[in-house]
Amino acid sequence: MSLYTKYRPKDFNNLVWQDFIKETLKKAIAEGKTVWAYLFCWPRWTGKTSTARIFAKAINCTNQKDWNPCLECENCKEFAEEKLIDVVEIDAASHTGVDNIREIIEKAQFSPTKTKYKVYIIDEVHMLSKGAFNALLKILEEPPNHVKFILATTETHKVPETIISRCQRYDFKRIDEESIRKRLLFIAESENVKIDDKSLNYIISSSNWWLRNAISLFEQLIESSEIIYERIIEKLWISSKEEFQNFISKLENKDLSILEDFDKIVESGKNLKLFFKELIFKIKDKIISELKDQKDISNLINIFDILDETYWKTKYSLDENTTFLVWILKIIWNQSNKNTENITQKAETKTKQKIEIKEKITDSEPKIEDLDDIFWSDFEEKNEWKTNKDWWFQAEIFINNLKQTWAKWALTMSLRWSKIAISWNQLEIAPNTKFARTSIDTFENREVMLKTLENMWFTDFNIIIK
Ligand SMILES: [Zn+2]
Repeated sequence: MSLYTKYRPKDFNNLVWQDFIKETLKKAIAEGKTVWAYLFCWPRWTGKTSTARIFAKAINCTNQKDWNPCLECENCKEFAEEKLIDVVEIDAASHTGVDNIREIIEKAQFSPTKTKYKVYIIDEVHMLSKGAFNALLKILEEPPNHVKFILATTETHKVPETIISRCQRYDFKRIDEESIRKRLLFIAESENVKIDDKSLNYIISSSNWWLRNAISLFEQLIESSEIIYERIIEKLWISSKEEFQNFISKLENKDLSILEDFDKIVESGKNLKLFFKELIFKIKDKIISELKDQKDISNLINIFDILDETYWKTKYSLDENTTFLVWILKIIWNQSNKNTENITQKAETKTKQKIEIKEKITDSEPKIEDLDDIFWSDFEEKNEWKTNKDWWFQAEIFINNLKQTWAKWALTMSLRWSKIAISWNQLEIAPNTKFARTSIDTFENREVMLKTLENMWFTDFNIIIK
């Protein structure tokens, strides 16, 4: 079990921030003044569901201790095991249809099976459709006594006023630095982990003030029950000045080998976000110094601009690596660039040689129909490549394996931009872009692809890049 799951607050005592909300809710429980609908408004990552769950648990606990759930009674135990059917959690982001809400409303009319209250926690409530809101409104107008709604949203302005006016509203604050520090120190003490101040500061600033990030980073950094700042530097690597200079100059010159550098950074397990954060500062420094020398800084400004925007986007992206990779591709995307031409020419010559060699070999293995007729330059017309679901499925598994086992981000991205066919013992790739081609066709990447294919099908494979 991860430390984050282990230390997820299970009662009000362990909710380490949002004191005002916590105390107000506890007081309402103590005085029997809970209302039937709550609206929790919060910025992202504020421990929102934790609060809603603790509240749902507390009002149904048969043995409350200081208005906290006891965590021991039957209801509390069933809740922990997610077996308590009277507490329903809905993610509106994935259930926006009115049917779901109608179903909920119909069921809400019946008394709870075991507990005092039926509790409906509807997360991202602003995502409900208009029809769903109307249905919800209907029950909020005449709520049965045994029902409690906890509506949660990150975008309050999208919730209809008619709903808001029927709810008791709570505005959550973003967790502050001090609260993260306290929580980490509490976990450190409970887990018998020694941690120095510098490490604590490092973890907090790298976490973007998201407790979940902070706790997972904390967990990753524990080495024999200690977290020592000097070891963090060794392990997470703060890049050298030369490495940054090199990276920036490759960006400026749209040098494609930067994709390999990126792969290396990812593979080394170094902190990617930290690298890009540092990079922003390094580019800023360079802009200032070139400005002093009266050089043309338009290119650097452009790089800085796109990077800055990308950096903030990673906060909301599911996969930081891809977001940063796309940033690099955006920067180096310039087909008239001399460097690109050279590499492309090389790739074309290679491809031609390969096709010549291939033509000399008579291959008796079964083939996917028509594939041999497709020359890399005219694949545009051959869109039936991916239409066979089975190949497509195999290709997906292959790419996912590559991504998971080897962390080859540039390679997997490039493969996704290419047409791929896997037959009995042959992988054929027609890259859609010059970038994709250069990033796929390296000795190392061929090795990695072969190993992955062989692990999947236990047979030797042949790779053809068209
Ligand atoms: Zn209990």
